[in-house]
Amino acid sequence: MSRPDIAYATASELAAGLAARQFSALELTDELLARIAALQPVFNAFVSVDPDGARVAAKAADAARAKGEAGPLTGIPIAHKDLYMTEGLRTTCSSKMLEHFVAPFDGHVVTLLKQAGTVLLGKTAMDEFAMGSSNETSFFGPVRNPWQRDSVPGGSSGGAAVAVAAGLAPAATGSDTGGSIRQPSSFCGVTGIKPTYGICSRHGMAAFASSLDQAGPMARSAEDCALMLTAMAGYDARDATSLPRPKEDYCRELVKPSTAKPLDGIRIGLPEVFFADGVGAPVVAAVEAALTELRKLGAVTVSVTLPNISYSVPVYHVLGPAEASSNLSCFDGVRYGHRAAHYTDLLDMYRKTRAEGFGDEVKRRILIGTYVLSHGYYDAYYLKAQKVRRLIADDYQAAFTQCDVILGPTVPTTAPLLGAQMQDPIKMYLNDIFTIGANLAGIPAMSVPCGFTSNNSPGGLPIGMQLQGAYFSEAQLLNIAHRFQQVTDWHRRVPNIQALGTK
Ligand code: GLN
Repeated sequence: MSRPDIAYATASELAAGLAARQFSALELTDELLARIAALQPVFNAFVSVDPDGARVAAKAADAARAKGEAGPLTGIPIAHKDLYMTEGLRTTCSSKMLEHFVAPFDGHVVTLLKQAGTVLLGKTAMDEFAMGSSNETSFFGPVRNPWQRDSVPGGSSGGAAVAVAAGLAPAATGSDTGGSIRQPSSFCGVTGIKPTYGICSRHGMAAFASSLDQAGPMARSAEDCALMLTAMAGYDARDATSLPRPKEDYCRELVKPSTAKPLDGIRIGLPEVFFADGVGAPVVAAVEAALTELRKLGAVTVSVTLPNISYSVPVYHVLGPAEASSNLSCFDGVRYGHRAAHYTDLLDMYRKTRAEGFGDEVKRRILIGTYVLSHGYYDAYYLKAQKVRRLIADDYQAAFTQCDVILGPTVPTTAPLLGAQMQDPIKMYLNDIFTIGANLAGIPAMSVPCGFTSNNSPGGLPIGMQLQGAYFSEAQLLNIAHRFQQVTDWHRRVPNIQALGTK
């Protein structure tokens, strides 16, 4: 077995290398820490790096392996989005409000991944409090797309997507409230899945919009996402919306031997709206080429309708801010994070703390949320949006009586240039037109690399396709993506970082 390229190997390949004693977890960790140190000034993907903690965890993983106690993720380096509480390591949500905040405990997902033997390299940059689609709302400055440095990586889990795409970590956690795992995965050419709402515990994840937020993995293959999700998912009594279901093995479909037509019998639903005007020509072409591959693997396509999906963006931008305005009220200068240095009385302290601690996008959402929940507007906006949310969820239920999965582009475009959308929030919000529906309905959805705007990278930008499935169909989505990745290599392309001017 040849030694895998540590920068770009999948977690599964690295696990095989560890098992074959080609390198130790400590060597693997040190090599990735060195890459992170070299490339942080270029991409700004991390908010915090934890070399000491990573080395301690790597040594523990090596010791576990020596005793014959290694699982599939033992010794695999990962990164957490900076909204997961990590004991002893700061959790900033990329906000000035939490710039120096160190959580006194690990979030549930963090604990589970620790128990699985992963090695935490550090915390990745994000849009402030996960509000944004480009990583430009981060207090710590923009993150750059490894495929084209003047383009955004997407958001809000942009740092996670860049860490995976630029060879800094084989896998990372993200969170997805309206598309924040899938959209940056699409923009950076990585694979990411948002599971069914309630599969992963939200305990120890800073809340944006609690009825929409879900944890999920981002990685270099569907197989790695399955490994990560198997570790991350599981009932947790500390999250009232955590689903009490038995532990699932999300790799169970993948390990079955491949046949000539492994997707025989799978019905792929194609909603016309996902291919309508406004979707970029290279995006449509890449998704159609992917459909051709999927048909060769045995899948059939049927047309389905999602009549209310066009309301998903406005519905989301009522419900998301409403929940955010409530969730973010805890940042008042009393208990967590930033407190204004000078104030006259308690009210003045609240005002100044929040004015100084939050950035523009977060303030915009708090204002909108407070407005739609206020007396006199509640029925017109909040209640109405809840009713339309139900219709959108019902549309999906109806569609899944005719098909097994719904497929389309993850985003209508590829990654925009840095700065291109910051002055126009509505344009930015429309990025999420295809992703938000899954959050409103609570269904699982994933983004899978399926092409580039040009085949001559570094000229090209990645394109992702989205697979959405019925509740608890994660194993099936991952299997479809895995079979696709067995016959394509879009997910294995790597950006030419040398050409971007780094050593
Ligand atoms: N881009 C969306 C927003 O701005 C989604 C964010 C997310 O999923 N966290 O809210």
